[in-house]
Amino acid sequence: MDCLFCAIIKGEIPSGKIYEDEYCYCFKDINPQAKVHALVVPKVHITSVDAIDEQSSVIISKIFEAIPKIARLLSLKDGYRVVSNIGDHGCQSVKHLHFHILGGERLSDKMA
Ligand code: AMP
Ligand code: ZN
Repeated sequence: MDCLFCAIIKGEIPSGKIYEDEYCYCFKDINPQAKVHALVVPKVHITSVDAIDEQSSVIISKIFEAIPKIARLLSLKDGYRVVSNIGDHGCQSVKHLHFHILGGERLSDKMA
């Protein structure tokens, strides 16, 4: 399977690492959409939010435990946004589940 984020997790493609634990890897988005833009991904390949099931939801809960730690590391004290794009209509370009963490400034009040 040819997956960009699996290659990043394995260190085959360089990335700006922010945080890592047993379950997830967090790195800087290469094309930031806000002053701070990080991506957090599960270390196991899950295609998108739409593929989460009873088994993989444990990993997702671990990611959501990591997100506040990552926010502290990034000094996002005034808040931030967590976004996950899913499929074609969601404009998901990389088919490995990822949560965008956006902040460092006041974001648009538009969600779409
Ligand atoms: P999405 O459009 O939700 O699938 O988001 C994919 C994100 O991955 C985009 O924000 C891209 O800028 C980002 N991206 C693509 N390639 C890389 C890379 N090599 N390193 C870091 N971020 C990347
Ligand atoms: Zn993958």
